[in-house]
Amino acid sequence: MPELPEVETIARGLASRITGDVIESVWLGSKPEPLKSTAPEIVATLESTRIAGVRRVGKHIVFDLENEGRASSPVPRKSRKKPKTPPSSPSTAAQWIVHLGMTGRMLICKPEQAIEKHTHAVAKLASGRELRFVDPRRFGRLSVAHGFEAQGSEPLEVEPDLFVKLFRGRKTPIKSALLNQKLLRGVGNIYADESLFRAGIRPRRRAASLTRQELSRLYAAIQEVLKEAITLGGSSISNYVDADGEEGFFQLQHRVYGREGEPCLACKTPVKRVVIAGRSSHFCPKCQK
Ligand SMILES: [Zn+2]
Repeated sequence: MPELPEVETIARGLASRITGDVIESVWLGSKPEPLKSTAPEIVATLESTRIAGVRRVGKHIVFDLENEGRASSPVPRKSRKKPKTPPSSPSTAAQWIVHLGMTGRMLICKPEQAIEKHTHAVAKLASGRELRFVDPRRFGRLSVAHGFEAQGSEPLEVEPDLFVKLFRGRKTPIKSALLNQKLLRGVGNIYADESLFRAGIRPRRRAASLTRQELSRLYAAIQEVLKEAITLGGSSISNYVDADGEEGFFQLQHRVYGREGEPCLACKTPVKRVVIAGRSSHFCPKCQK
């Protein structure tokens, strides 16, 4: 499942390629699962809008759309020039929100490229290209909104003091708290395990039991892990591709995640796996307290 760094990579890739382009028409498939808003709503919201920008919010890809009529400098058809990034302005009319789920991909294609099986949406762009949403397992979701706001704090933007406050008084294991999207948005299973390892904290510890010092180590570890993974282009356990349609992800070397029974990279103690709130958690029983 794509996590924050992968979604960030994909959103940046899309932003650099399609910002300024205009959605001329939209085709949606007949499978109901991927549609979180109704099909007519999605079509009406997307058609004839300019893509003012693409950004990541938590694990969502958000396309900021503005009404074509309102924009001042239209991008000429078939233009290959990179459009200027417009300032995020109140003229943004709506958002198209894509969650990739387990196997979702956003592809920028030439119209003559064969439509892949499991394609659920195709947006025809004024530049002549098509933006396609492909998702074999159909856990991905498409929706539209006006004034989209995600809940939770952005892990790469949250202030250290607020980060400490998020976990105060919480009796749940710190691992579960890290995965709670109402607290931090976008931290998934892999990066939660990796951050806890780097911070030297066992996943089962109650969030409330962490000292201020441990929380600041955890804060630093999360920042470090996510930034490293973004730099590498996002790591991935399933095979999905970036906005170019290229399978180009490098894998961040996982220190504990998925390494049950293998020696800890720091102390050689076998890595342990436990299940916390239904999710596999990996840790070193010696390095993590
Ligand atoms: Zn160890």
